[in-house]
Amino acid sequence: MSNTDLSTRSRAALPGGVSHELRYSTPHPVFIDHAKGAEKWDVEGRRYIDFKMGSASQMLGHCHPAIVEAIQKQAERSIFSADCHAAEATWAEWVNHLYPSAERTRFTASGTEATMLALRLGRAWSGKDHVLRIDGHFHGWHDHALKGAMPGSDRASSLGIPDAVNDLIHVCSPDPQAMEAILQDARIGTVIVEASGANYGCVPLATENLRALHDVARAAGVVLILDEIITGFRWSPGGRQARDGIVPDLTTLAKTVTGGLPGGAVCGCAEIMELMNNETQREGLAPAVSHKGTFNGSPLVAAAACAAMPLLATGEAQAQADAMATRMRDGMNKTLHDLGVVGLAYGESSIFHLYFGRTSLDGLSAAQIRSLPKPQVKAYRDGMLEHGVDLMAYTSGLTSAAHTPDLIDEALDGFCATLTAMIHDGVLS
Ligand code: PLP
Repeated sequence: MSNTDLSTRSRAALPGGVSHELRYSTPHPVFIDHAKGAEKWDVEGRRYIDFKMGSASQMLGHCHPAIVEAIQKQAERSIFSADCHAAEATWAEWVNHLYPSAERTRFTASGTEATMLALRLGRAWSGKDHVLRIDGHFHGWHDHALKGAMPGSDRASSLGIPDAVNDLIHVCSPDPQAMEAILQDARIGTVIVEASGANYGCVPLATENLRALHDVARAAGVVLILDEIITGFRWSPGGRQARDGIVPDLTTLAKTVTGGLPGGAVCGCAEIMELMNNETQREGLAPAVSHKGTFNGSPLVAAAACAAMPLLATGEAQAQADAMATRMRDGMNKTLHDLGVVGLAYGESSIFHLYFGRTSLDGLSAAQIRSLPKPQVKAYRDGMLEHGVDLMAYTSGLTSAAHTPDLIDEALDGFCATLTAMIHDGVLS
C-alpha cells in the first residue's frame, strides 16, 4: 500500500481525501499506520519524529502503556452505555483540583463543543448575546468562533454562517485599551481569549498582557472564558491559569484533558456552571442552560483520562516536554545563525514556532506573523517531512513527555538539511 494509492482512494471517498481540512496536502498526505512514543510510521514503513502529537493531544507520548491498558480494560467492561459512571466523577475531581477556576466540570465530545458550550453559558449568565474575541485566536470551527479567526480580517473563515450570528461577534486586538474601549458597548456580556495567544502562541501573549486583558474584562463585569484547549495540562498541570495566576470565570479544555481520546470539557465557577444543573430554573427553563451530547464523558474516554491525570499532575511530563522544546528552539536558532538565515525560533512551554525574515517579532501584527509566503511555508513543511520530521500546522510544532535529546538532535539535523535545501532552491536567502 502506498501513500499515493491511498490518497487517490481517499479523494474519491472523502472531500479532499481528508476528515479535517488541515490534513490536506499536495501532492498527497502521508498515511500513518502506527505510532509509539514520539515517533510514527507511515504505510510505506517510513518513520517520522512527531511534533504534531495528535494535534497536541498526546502529551504523554503515543500509546503510553498506562493509557493503552486503561482503554483495554474499560473496553472489556463497557464501551458505552450512556449512563452515569464512577470514572466521570473521578475525572471531574481531578480537573476541579488542578484548575484554579474550576469548581464544577462538564464534559463534551470535542474542543469545539467546549467553546460552544462556554459561550452559551456566558450569554445565559450575562443575559447578553454579544461576544468579544481576540483577532486571530482559534476556538474551534462552530458558527460563533469563525469571525475573527483569520487574523486581520473581520470575515468569518467559512461560508454558511448567518450574518445574524457574525453580527454578534466583536473582534479586537489583544490590547487592553482596545478591549476596554469595545467593552463600552453594553451589549457585550462575554469575552473569550486563547490562553497562549493566537494559534498556540504563534502570536505570543505576554503574561502582563493577558493579566491586563483579564483585569479589563473583570472591571467590565463580563464573563471571561479562557480557552486552555492547548495550554491545559501543558503549560502546567493546571494550565496557564495555575502557572500565571490568571483565573477566568470559565475554562475550556480538550486534547490532553481526555488522556488523548476524543472529547473536551468546560470548567468554571459553580454559580455559572450550575446553570446546567437540572434543578436550576430560570425564566421557566430547567436546566436553565441545556447541554446534551451522547458521548459526553464516555467511560472509555474517562478511563484514559483517569489514567493520564496522575501522570500529568506531578509536572514531570511537562518539565520533560518543555526541556525538549527549549532544546529544539535553541538548536533551530543556532542553525539559523550558522546558515546565515534571518529568522527566529520562539515559543513558550513545549511549543516551538519559526518566523523567517526577522529576528524579533516586535511591532508585527498577528496578520503579519501568520502570513509568511505560502511557498516558503510549504517548502519548509515538505522539507522537514522529507527528512522524517512531522510538524503540527504552519511552521510550528510541539513536544511531549516522550521526546528525548537524541530525537531532538536528529530533528535538528533534518532542520539544517531542510534550510540548506531551501537556500539552494532560492526559497530562502
Ligand atoms: N481552541 C483551541 C485553542 C484549539 O487549539 C482547538 C483545536 O486545535 C480548539 C479550540 C478546537 O478543538 P477541537 O479540534 O477538539 O474541536
